[in-house]
Amino acid sequence: MRLKYKLLISYLFLIFLFSIALLELIFEVRHVSYSLKQHTLYDINSIIYLSKQLQDLEILNANYIVIFIPGNTSAKVVRLEKARQQYHAGWQKVKISLQKASSDFSPAKWSLGTLFEKLSRSKQNEINSVEPLVEKINQEWLKLDQSIKKSIELVRKNKLNQARYLRETAALPNIKKLRNDLIKLNQKIGQYSIIRTQNMASMVERTQSVILYIELALIFVALLSAFLIARKITRPVETLKNAINRMAIQDFSVTIPNKPNDEIGELSSAFEELSLRLKESDRFKSAILSQFTHEMKSPLGSIKQATLLLENSLKDQLNPTQKRFIEIIKGNYSTLQNLITTILQSASYDLGNIQLKYRRVNVVKVVTEVLINLSPMIKEKDLKVNINFSAKKIEAELDVEKFKEVVQNLLSNAVKFSLSGKTIDVRLSERLSLLRLVIKDQGIGIPEKEIPYIFEKMYRASNSEKISVKGTGLGLYIASQIVKAHGGQIKVKSVVDKGTAFTVILPKNRRIAEEGGWLDA
Ligand code: ATP
Ligand code: MG
Repeated sequence: MRLKYKLLISYLFLIFLFSIALLELIFEVRHVSYSLKQHTLYDINSIIYLSKQLQDLEILNANYIVIFIPGNTSAKVVRLEKARQQYHAGWQKVKISLQKASSDFSPAKWSLGTLFEKLSRSKQNEINSVEPLVEKINQEWLKLDQSIKKSIELVRKNKLNQARYLRETAALPNIKKLRNDLIKLNQKIGQYSIIRTQNMASMVERTQSVILYIELALIFVALLSAFLIARKITRPVETLKNAINRMAIQDFSVTIPNKPNDEIGELSSAFEELSLRLKESDRFKSAILSQFTHEMKSPLGSIKQATLLLENSLKDQLNPTQKRFIEIIKGNYSTLQNLITTILQSASYDLGNIQLKYRRVNVVKVVTEVLINLSPMIKEKDLKVNINFSAKKIEAELDVEKFKEVVQNLLSNAVKFSLSGKTIDVRLSERLSLLRLVIKDQGIGIPEKEIPYIFEKMYRASNSEKISVKGTGLGLYIASQIVKAHGGQIKVKSVVDKGTAFTVILPKNRRIAEEGGWLDA
């Protein structure tokens, strides 16, 4: 899939996630505010209806008394009948209102309101607990209604005494009870209303916390998905970058696994192709170089022979200037020969041809010899050398000539890249089955970015140009190959303008060198 579609889908996914969460929040808030409104409305209505009911009861009572007063009976009966119906209708309204109050607060099933289910259940229980009282009032009213109806019949039949008796004995206590119970119901609803308002307040608080948790969860999910998406997209880029870094240190055998099916995948394939070609041309370059160097050997040999012959045949006839010229020719000859040897050596090391001639030697002696060889250079630069050998004799199995090359190169580098008057530390020690050589200078140092490349063939860091030091850039390559062939390790630490320390660790005997196990330890 193209990169742009991948990004588009990722964005859409995040937007979808946020929209769902936002909708949920809107529903939640709406539900809570709706519940609050309904709740307040029903409570207030119930209280208003109940107050009205008490009033209706008083009106009913007054009209009930009036029918016993002599006068226009039928008009009074009509009024009583009306008051009775009015009370009855009012009572029905109260009952409906109370029923609604108890049923309309269940949380919406689709929303997070189910979290509040427990809360609203307790609220419903409170409302349900007024039910017995309502039932009791209902029964009392039915009884009173019967008494009133009977009284009206008796009054109509002009049996006033019987009617009065009925009122005194049955209806009046009934009215009192009804009045008390209506007041009780009113008080109860008032109390519950307060409790419910408190519950609602905590419901709002909970909603706020839920909103906060949703927000936090959303931020977390968004961050996580952004991280995963970014990782999915950048991982192949990272792999490609690593491959480029490896190629920068002349490792041309790069393969990029799991190439994505997008532009980055195409780039990776193109890069693999490029590294293959570079590998080919590198091989070609090495072959040409060694062939060319090889070809130089015989003319150089002739020059040497001819110079020696010339020098011998004209031995006594040469004036000082001519003798100096011959010395210059000889000097340049040996420089060229060294160069050729180094190039040919490195070319054979490329192919892994390092034949080691192991010998048991005193490494202290070997290092000292190299130091003595380099002493003219050291003196010339007025350098101080601190030598620290952990023992007079440190024995190891090595290829002496090759090991000398390593020490020679590291030491000559330390001398070359130090300014005059500085100090060089040479430390040699042994620990268990390992040999450790540290050569530390106070020279110009190596820029941090270039450190990974200095062991590469013909690599010379920018610092060497800065102080115009000559060299081929092959010394460290050869040294590192020799150390590797001995089953050892070479490490470097360097700070620009402070100095450089090279550490060589080698196994002291051939068996360990060949097994190489210590490297993993
Ligand atoms: P050659 O050894 O072939 O004569 P060279 O000394 O330049 O040439 P290497 O010994 O391979 O090459 O070192 C590679 C580069 O590493 C050097 O050119 C230099 O930039 C840097 N380098 C090596 N040793 C030191 C050191 N002790 N201090 C500062 N830079 C160093
Ligand atoms: Mg060197």
